[in-house]
Amino acid sequence: MQVLPKEETISLRDKHIGKSCQLFFRKDPLKIVRAKGQYMFDERGDAYLDCINNVAHVGHCHPEVVKAGCDQMSTLNTNNRFLHDNIVVCAKKIISTMPDELSVCFFVNSGSEANDLAIRLAQIYTGNKDVIALEHAYHGHLTSLIDISHYKFNLPGGVGQKNHVHVASLPDSYRGKYRDTDHPKHQIGHLYADEVRDICSKVTAKPDGGVCAFIAESLVSCGGQVVPPDNYFAEVYGHVRAAGGVCIADEVQVGFGRIGKHWWAFQQFGVVPDIVTMGKPMGNGHPVACVVTTREIADSFMRTGVEYFNTYGGNPVSCAIATAVIDTLEKENLRENAVVVGEYLLDNCQLLAKKHKCIGDIRGVGLFVGIDLVQDRESRVPDVQCAKFVLQRMREEHILISLDGPHSNIIKMKPPMVFTKENVDEVISTLDRVFKEYRHKMELYPQNSHTVQNTAFTDVKATKEHRPINTLFQKSKIKSI
Ligand code: PMP
Repeated sequence: MQVLPKEETISLRDKHIGKSCQLFFRKDPLKIVRAKGQYMFDERGDAYLDCINNVAHVGHCHPEVVKAGCDQMSTLNTNNRFLHDNIVVCAKKIISTMPDELSVCFFVNSGSEANDLAIRLAQIYTGNKDVIALEHAYHGHLTSLIDISHYKFNLPGGVGQKNHVHVASLPDSYRGKYRDTDHPKHQIGHLYADEVRDICSKVTAKPDGGVCAFIAESLVSCGGQVVPPDNYFAEVYGHVRAAGGVCIADEVQVGFGRIGKHWWAFQQFGVVPDIVTMGKPMGNGHPVACVVTTREIADSFMRTGVEYFNTYGGNPVSCAIATAVIDTLEKENLRENAVVVGEYLLDNCQLLAKKHKCIGDIRGVGLFVGIDLVQDRESRVPDVQCAKFVLQRMREEHILISLDGPHSNIIKMKPPMVFTKENVDEVISTLDRVFKEYRHKMELYPQNSHTVQNTAFTDVKATKEHRPINTLFQKSKIKSI
């Protein structure tokens, strides 16, 4: 299945692909040549359990989705300036999952394009420019979005904070400014929302200021799998709208039923945004994304007289694929699966926390889960070293997880929606073993304790007691997929 030997792929990539392009495990990258369901296979045919691909939403290479794309590709693909059924069928399906107010779609090709268009719509509708976004947030790679993504513009080499951008504290009740140790949960939501109210007041007091939009993920992924307090968004939306702004829910990572109970993560907070953006899972790996908004906002865009055209946005192939993804979610009851397997995962993580003190917090909804690793539960200081160790060892055990949060100490899981309880068992028993190993290493090499800067754990090799690669899946479902 591979065209080139791995070394050659690496060397060509070094030569011809921009070095700043991200690569998982850069020192020893994985070469993945095919995937099926919740498994990915490297060039040797070894399987990896995929706990991180929220893009392969209904499972890698789902046959119905692949068929929908292939069939349409061999019939017609063209831009959406011709009348075609696929775009309206897909729009109707998406709208059927939304609150009534959200009834108009704009199809685009990526989450970044969706957020860029959302900001443009908000600017036109409100006539304002100032955007409020969350600390540690990421909303996409376009220049307009790097400007509002604290996670990027705030880096040492980043572009810095522009005048029209305002950053509100991450509504994190575990490690944020207002914590569950000091305040009841409801009050925490209130305190964080008040910060947005104060930003709105400051913005409107500026001679040239005016609130254009508040944009946030409904569950904050880059911020560290943070689930905002229940009352946070309702209060924030109230303040933002009172100041003349609109509310944008970025559902690029967390939408399309990932939380199980609802199609969209904002729904669990009982709010209705003015604009919703979606992407990643929508095409199961194919680039398709969408902005959904109200008739009023969409019409204000139309009244500018500037027509919107996007060559690939809403093409018949992308829309056939997106429709097949929604159909598959429904046919295979994958939202129900996210509820059941997600709860099982959270429960088992809690059991794991009883055994391992390095687990400070477990949070999430459905198949969107974070495990916050700490040096000590009292101080909640992030255990970055432990997180790195776990990431590397899990890879050696052929389980792919990722790290997130401002300190990269949060184990992040957002697997394909076909993830099973057996998959959870594998992940939990392996994590159990890996946490034990880490503890033993720390006991054996106390000089590597957290107070000491060390590199001893950055390139950990598997020890003898570890299971040999890939026994994990030999008698499991792999062969039958
Ligand atoms: N919003 C969020 C929350 C994201 O996580 C991402 C991608 N990681 C984007 C927007 C941008 O999406 P894309 O990479 O498809 O442009």
